[in-house]
Amino acid sequence: MSTFTVLNPATEETVATVPSTSVEEADAAIARAAAAREAWRAVGPSDRAALLRAFADAVDAHIEELAQLEVAGSGHPVGQARWEAGNVRDVLRYYSAAPERLFGKQIPVPGGVNVTFQEPVGIVGLIVPWNFPMPILGWGLGPALAAGNPVIAKPAERTPLTAIRIGELAREAGLPDGVFQVLPGKGSVVGQRLVDHEAVRKIVFTGSTEVGRQIMAGCARQVKRLTLELGGKSANIVFADADLERAAAAAPQAVFDNAGQDCCARSRILVQRSAFGRFMEMLEPAVKRVAVGDPASPDTEMGPLISAEHLHRVASYVPAGAPVAFRGSAPDGPGYWFAPTVLAPVPPDYPAYTEEVFGPVVTVVPFEDEADAVKIANDTPYGLSGSIWTQNLGRALRVARAVETGNLSVNSHSSVRYWTPFGGFKQSGLGRELGPDALDAFTETKNVFIATEE
Ligand code: NDP
Repeated sequence: MSTFTVLNPATEETVATVPSTSVEEADAAIARAAAAREAWRAVGPSDRAALLRAFADAVDAHIEELAQLEVAGSGHPVGQARWEAGNVRDVLRYYSAAPERLFGKQIPVPGGVNVTFQEPVGIVGLIVPWNFPMPILGWGLGPALAAGNPVIAKPAERTPLTAIRIGELAREAGLPDGVFQVLPGKGSVVGQRLVDHEAVRKIVFTGSTEVGRQIMAGCARQVKRLTLELGGKSANIVFADADLERAAAAAPQAVFDNAGQDCCARSRILVQRSAFGRFMEMLEPAVKRVAVGDPASPDTEMGPLISAEHLHRVASYVPAGAPVAFRGSAPDGPGYWFAPTVLAPVPPDYPAYTEEVFGPVVTVVPFEDEADAVKIANDTPYGLSGSIWTQNLGRALRVARAVETGNLSVNSHSSVRYWTPFGGFKQSGLGRELGPDALDAFTETKNVFIATEE
């Protein structure tokens, strides 16, 4: 049996050795899910709701254990890791209300009536990235199960531990065999098999735009349902009339959260030219205050990058002679550390300004007026997130409507709430997760005509 090693990104020590799922084992798991499909679909709405609540309770009872696994296996600061485990619980609870509200419509037509049913789509494959192993798993898992589908999750090879544990908790909570399975292993083997296997009817993928494109092409061969959450290069737009102190204080967390390994990272700060100097003066101490260090310490705000390979990639965006305005700090010694880094001024074709770095690197550029801000913000193939800082509500709404991106915050850096929709414009993705309509992505509408005339 082949295995792979999970390393602690803060210490480079081995945390666990995990069996790598083969194609044959993936096929066997898909067969188990297929065998469970009809029975799971037939579970009555209130019973399915009760099972999801029991699953949420099991996660709740193991928040600390899950958080510690994420600290060791992903290098997430412990406070963040606790929030992430709690997010899985909350998402399961939120969607546990859905089975009892999965209504169709009745539509009067000449000679009878049409009724619609929301039927489960079938086996769902969740391909999960390493940056938020727990929440992103939960965002697909909750609505997919609630809609009556069996789920097979493929966690990222670097970060499988919490998904494996959540799979065990599902069984302990009473979910029937085959309803939720976790297959650790390689994307090119297990992930690809989920895409290629005809019995898998829907893929939810979060990760790089490049792999997302390949998955989309693979799904196209079978007209397989697909949700994609991909990259981002989001703008944090600061107008001169904003509360600059608040905007500058919030900017580091908006980009350095999870060490910048966040598809919603506001990695381009756009500041109106008349306020540029004042903003930079306030940004510098805020960046230097970011507490980078031991993820197990409750005071830590930013941990290491996920791997040596990723550290190398992030560092390549800040070569010798790069226009570093200022930097925060990072520990020496073992671990994949990279200090928060602010680049300015940068030319318009500078790679750290145009490409997704997925690390704690931000560029700051000036803009002249509202039209200029919107033009710069939209000058990217991505469109996932963004922020607007201004005291002028009309301007906030005008700019929010003009920026081509799926999730914006005004005078705030927040991005994802499980009870509101999340997803991207342009090359940032396809479809929406979360919010009250998430079950639409895991059901098919069936339309039945019933004649009423003799
Ligand atoms: P990938 O897109 O390669 O990986 C995401 C998931 O897809 C992982 O579970 C991976 O498995 C799996 N996968 C990889 N190849 C295939 C395939 N051919 N078929 C099916 N599944 C596959 O991201 P990386 O980990 O390589 O990260 C690279 C870059 O992607 C980052 O630097 C960042 O820019 C971006 N990214 C964006 C994320 C987001 O949230 N939008 C999340 C993660 C990365 P395995 O772990 O085995 O490779």
